[in-house]
Amino acid sequence: MTSQLSFDVQLNQQARTAAEREQVLANPGFGQIFTDHMISIDYTEGRGWHDARLEPYGPLVLDPATAVFHYAQELFEGLKAYRQANGSIVSFRPYANAARFNKSALRMAMPELPEEAFVESLELLVQTDKEWVPTTEGHSLYLRPFIIATQVGLGVNYPSKTYRYMVIASPAASYFSGGVKPVSVWLSTEYTRAAPGGTGFAKCGGNYAAAFVAQRQAVEQGCDQVVWLDANEHRYVEEMGGMNLFFVFGDRLLTPALTGTLLPGVTRDSILAFAADLGLKAEEGRISIEEWQAGCESGELTEVFACGTAAVVTPVGTVKGADRSWTIGDGTPGTVTQKIREELMGIQFGSRPDSYNWIHKIC
Ligand SMILES: *Cc1c(COP(=O)(O)O)cnc(C)c1O
Repeated sequence: MTSQLSFDVQLNQQARTAAEREQVLANPGFGQIFTDHMISIDYTEGRGWHDARLEPYGPLVLDPATAVFHYAQELFEGLKAYRQANGSIVSFRPYANAARFNKSALRMAMPELPEEAFVESLELLVQTDKEWVPTTEGHSLYLRPFIIATQVGLGVNYPSKTYRYMVIASPAASYFSGGVKPVSVWLSTEYTRAAPGGTGFAKCGGNYAAAFVAQRQAVEQGCDQVVWLDANEHRYVEEMGGMNLFFVFGDRLLTPALTGTLLPGVTRDSILAFAADLGLKAEEGRISIEEWQAGCESGELTEVFACGTAAVVTPVGTVKGADRSWTIGDGTPGTVTQKIREELMGIQFGSRPDSYNWIHKIC
């Protein structure tokens, strides 16, 4: 099926040469360098989505009074395109990202984009810039769809009447420069990421803007990442930075339930689905920081890992809070964490069976 939109295609006459591209792909880092093209689709109230186009990657010209700069009406998605051994390119569950994009849009009083148009926009960008999809094992092309409010004027009595949806793409090595080395986490009891009724479940930039001060505090405390706790009691674990968390009790996995204040990760959902295939029992529930510490001390809680598109599956090694700190297992990546990481990457890169029909072929 295709969307009602037809994309105007304007190719980049200044596209980088193969040699320039290869130089970037030799050491892509994360989110620093972008491909030669981008997607834009405009929205006007009453008219709907229009002017879908693929054009050369480049800066935007926007009036300083554009709504997004003042009231942060913005949201985004993140997913990847993966090179398969036979050279073809796929993405992973793009319709799940399309659905989440629209759930976020409803919360932010922004227009929904038909799922077909979302997926088609990704396909067109990846097909056009397919040479940018890395062939190095474990590397991928990170896709960043986002939408901004473009109405000009400072009145806040109503949400913007105009929007722009865009997609940009960036070749990616691994998100954390340390590879799969376990991260240390700081328990944030001073700051809150999300409260009931707020925007915690929506992938909006504002959630990140409000989180940076806590991330900086984590680094000041000698930790890599911040762990968010519930807004009411600062006791129950919610997420780690921009990733969901799993707690491993031998062959049982526990991940915090989606209460509305957590971001519903596609990676989290995928792990919940395939855990049983690896002989693991996965459940959603609730865990307090006291239970986390006690579980590690008794040896019952054997591993903790974080998961998300960008960093895939990352082990957590040590925990630090204002008045306590402890180590998980012996602080090294656990076997369950590694097994889950391998299974997930195996499905994405095509070395494991795609039993759930998650793989979406692009070209
Ligand atoms: C994007 C994101 C995640 C992970 O979601 P995935 O779909 O697995 O990439 C988790 N937490 C937050 C806050 C996020 O923004």
